[in-house]
Formats: sequence, structure tokens, C-alpha cells
Amino acid sequence: MPDLITLAQRHYIMSQVHSSNTKPEVKLRHALWGLGFRYRVNDKRLPGSPDIVLPKYRTVIFVHGCFWHGHKGCKHYTVPKTNTDFWVAKVRRNQERDQEVWRKLEAKGWNVIIVWECELKKSRLQETVAHVSAEIKANGTLHQQRQEERRTERERRRIERAKEKAELEAREKEISKKYGSVR
Ligand SMILES: [Zn+2]
Repeated sequence: MPDLITLAQRHYIMSQVHSSNTKPEVKLRHALWGLGFRYRVNDKRLPGSPDIVLPKYRTVIFVHGCFWHGHKGCKHYTVPKTNTDFWVAKVRRNQERDQEVWRKLEAKGWNVIIVWECELKKSRLQETVAHVSAEIKANGTLHQQRQEERRTERERRRIERAKEKAELEAREKEISKKYGSVR
């Protein structure tokens, strides 16, 4: 039986199927790695299994295909002339799912960065990586500050509790000195 699709078509379809390894995402990963960022890939434990997870910076990154996720105003998001309703509905569902995932992640204290595929084209890659890197670092600073605040607050409460305990013991000692032990 002859092949119904060309090799190039097959290649394209396979690259879409194995979406976790599409080229734009890999390009971004490599660039971030080169800048010294360390990350996990496709973490299934987090909502939406984000493409790139940077725990140290409490940041996740999704690389979105401009068509499938409906990149507004992008030339790569043009609704097909046939089956228009079908495609519009499909993209809208994806967008709704994206927003739901985003909300869940933010509720868990994660910062979410969306990078569109068109932003990873060769001519725009450098600029995009610079933006993304700056945002990751800013998120990391904020995350560290929050952790530091939580540590300080815990320490403050610990000292307060110790003080209260010491005061209570001192009072009890004074009472038993005054009236003697009833036991
Ligand atoms: Zn786009």
C-alpha cells in the first residue's frame, strides 16, 4: 500500500504528536540552560504539566503554539476558511483550559510565563530570552523575599511563645513561694 502522506507531512505530524519536544520549546530551554537556569521539564505533578519548571524561582513556563492557543493579533493565528466554527470552538476550549491551569498554578504560588512560538523565531529569540530571563529573576527575588518574611515571622512567634512561657513559670513560682505548695 502506498504512503498517503509525504515524508515531510509525516515528520510534521509526528512533531505535533510529540509536542513536548517541539523545536521552539527546545530552543528556549537550551538558551535558559546556557544562562545558568536549571529546570524540570513537563512536570506532571503540576497543573497543566508545564513545559519548563524552575522551582528555585517559583516559576513555570508554557510555550504555546500560536494557532492552537489562539495568539491574539498574531499572523499565525488565522482561522481556517472551512469548518470555521469548529476551529474557533476548539481554540476557545484550549484558551479556557489554559486559563484554568493558570489560575490553579497561581493559587499554589507559582508565577506563570507564557511564551508564544512566534516569539522564538530566530529573529526574535534573543530578545525573548532576555525578557523571559529578566522575568524569571524578578520572580525569584520576590519568592526569596516572601520566604525570608515567612522565616522572620516564624522566628518572631517562637520568641514570643518562649517569653510567654517564661513569664508563666515565673508567676507560678511566685505563687507557690507566697502560699506554699498545696500539693
Ligand atoms: Zn504568535
